Amino acid sequence: MRPFIALLVLAVWPALLAAQPLNYDIKVEKSTAGGKLKLTVSVQFFPSATDTSRFTLPASINWTNNLYRCFRNFSADGGRYVREDSTHVLVISRGGKPVTLHYDVIQNFSGEQVTVETSCGPILLRDYIHVPGDCLFLTPRHYRSYEVTVRWLNIPEGWTFQNSFSSGQTEQRFHLTTLDWQRSTWVAGDFRILQGEVLGKPVAFALRGKWLFEDETLFELIKKTIATQRSTWDDTDIPFYSVTMIPFVLPQRGHLVGNARTGQCLGFGGHQSFSVYASEDCLLDPLVDLFNHEMTHNWIGGQINTGVPDATASLRWLTEGFTDYYALRSRWQAGFLTTDEFLQKLNREFLAAHYSDPNGEVPNLILERDYFSNERYENVPYRRGCILALYLDTAIRQKTNNSQTLHDFMLDLLDYTHGKHRDLIEHFEFLAETLADYLGAEEAAYLLAENVDAGRRIDPARFRLPEFLRMRADNGVPQLEIVAGREAEFRK
Ligand SMILES: [Zn+2]
Repeated sequence: MRPFIALLVLAVWPALLAAQPLNYDIKVEKSTAGGKLKLTVSVQFFPSATDTSRFTLPASINWTNNLYRCFRNFSADGGRYVREDSTHVLVISRGGKPVTLHYDVIQNFSGEQVTVETSCGPILLRDYIHVPGDCLFLTPRHYRSYEVTVRWLNIPEGWTFQNSFSSGQTEQRFHLTTLDWQRSTWVAGDFRILQGEVLGKPVAFALRGKWLFEDETLFELIKKTIATQRSTWDDTDIPFYSVTMIPFVLPQRGHLVGNARTGQCLGFGGHQSFSVYASEDCLLDPLVDLFNHEMTHNWIGGQINTGVPDATASLRWLTEGFTDYYALRSRWQAGFLTTDEFLQKLNREFLAAHYSDPNGEVPNLILERDYFSNERYENVPYRRGCILALYLDTAIRQKTNNSQTLHDFMLDLLDYTHGKHRDLIEHFEFLAETLADYLGAEEAAYLLAENVDAGRRIDPARFRLPEFLRMRADNGVPQLEIVAGREAEFRK
């Protein structure tokens, strides 16, 4: 059998490697269900080598649930459409000829108010649309390489247009070997569009609504943030970057179902883009925080694929907490924060807040299981992860005489997952081994068992520090200090 299998693999291999075309035609049409508009989508694809092509509908994104209800009116040309269950659709066909699946995308809430719970589903209103890629592009599961064409038809007159791939164009073509492109954002309507360039690459900002400051002020902050972060990650290859911003209605405490980040603004970072939702009285400072956090997800949670957390495995502490640590350092590096402000935020908003939080030591999997239903857990993974990042950063700096930092560790994770079809939940052993490379096997195992899984706070005495840092313990709460005149060593 063996030579036969080898021959078969050789014969099939080029087909697996070859780019597989996917053509989406999307029509904007009036609707009586949900919002004011609906999107009529046709996707043409090449069927699977078996007779069954399978599609998975999204279930939830952040606080937005039941997203499969946004998909209606399925049919197929060149094959037979079968609804397997609420989140799976099959198309059964014969032969290798292209097949087309048709479906409508509708808004899954009535009224016009964008809230925390409706933010991440399709928003399809009279004046604009705002749709995450996951809720727009159903994609055959057998595809491994995506040669995508998207054509928008029937767009209302005067509408502007932007997404994670371009601004102002109603046709996009791109080729990617991972499904990253589904984590994109697509907007059109009465958006104001600002265009610019950072380190030689185009960036665009699409926003609507009235704000307390000029559009240009926000765009300058965005460009500064992009420039700082791309320098940190030495990543100037990103061909285009989109930022979008729309007004939303703040949740009223007590009326919120489940748990949500209840600040004046909310963000969602994705492929070559992030989206911002903010209340119209939102101040600049929380927006600068948010821009830095969401953009960091381009790498942490994006290129560094941390997997999808569930009740049995969760790297939320890494995805959110390490992102917060990077975002805080990035604001310091960009000059949005002075050294004193940087230390104050780290000491108060992370260390002091976490060490006095009655829920600060909830075990990792209980935290994950109840994260979206228990609002007292809202900040725990962010703070816990940020402190773990600080611990790792200072330990690596101490051990290597500041020639290496947390960033070297993160680049190892990035190399392992970026464009490789694998994530760190599924390959947790790589994360554990890499941690052991930097900390030593015993310390890495202790950290993962005690401070990650069991959720225990790190004893302030255990922080290992390079000589330009000091750690005070204030009633058991670690507080970081930088030796005067040596800020530059920690800023790098
Ligand atoms: Zn985040």
